Amino acid sequence: MLQIQNKVIKAAILDMDGVLWRMNTPIIDLPKLFTNFEQHGIKVMLATNNGTATIDGYVKKLSGFGVEFDKTQVVTSAMALAFLLKKHYPSGGPLYILGESALIETLAELGFYHSEEKPLAVAAGLDRAFTYEKIKNASLMIQKGLPFYFTNPDPTYPTPEGIIPGAGTLLAALETASGVKAQLAGKPLPFLFEVCLERLECTAEETLVVGDRLDTDILGGQASGCKTALVLTGISSREEGEAWNPKPDLILDKISDLFD
Ligand SMILES: [Mg+2]
Repeated sequence: MLQIQNKVIKAAILDMDGVLWRMNTPIIDLPKLFTNFEQHGIKVMLATNNGTATIDGYVKKLSGFGVEFDKTQVVTSAMALAFLLKKHYPSGGPLYILGESALIETLAELGFYHSEEKPLAVAAGLDRAFTYEKIKNASLMIQKGLPFYFTNPDPTYPTPEGIIPGAGTLLAALETASGVKAQLAGKPLPFLFEVCLERLECTAEETLVVGDRLDTDILGGQASGCKTALVLTGISSREEGEAWNPKPDLILDKISDLFD
């Protein structure tokens, strides 16, 4: 049984990059970690702000590391954005989409497609083929009054090579060019957590959010009313965690320390 502040933890929402792995290198023994969650009776959802990989891609990646997950246990910011857009445009339709194939495919599942003819909104995310021309076109549309949606604000992400530009770097370029703040879908907004809690059938107080970033994982987890654990295998440091207000419930060197 895992208890935090006298509350039994029944579910966990885990970030993946910087918590489970860095790019293609696992940080800890993943099969052992998920066996531990199971033995402690803790249901798991995986929630990432990375919108450049598909759900199937994550399930495959996990399987390659020796852990089997169902598609319904993985949520990305591309999916959060698709759900958010569906709330505003229930019948789908044309969007000016700036992003990679995972975003385009996820939006397509809910009836949205890319078009420069009368798009309903600009929907953007990390695009590793970002160009001046793309910033220009999107910012012109936003300035004409098209609603501006973006997957997630993470400025950077950790890789074995070092810390490299994330979606937030592109978000800053688009916001700077257009003078308009985007409506965000991913963490720290509550949307990803809401989807997870619904699927876990657990309350926020009995759910632990684990992440390596204070400004997305921990901030979002706290805002959703969940318990939070900062791990030091990614972006944020112990000093930053100690200084964060309110402090995360746990600060761990690595996620497997939950059970040690
Ligand atoms: Mg992370």
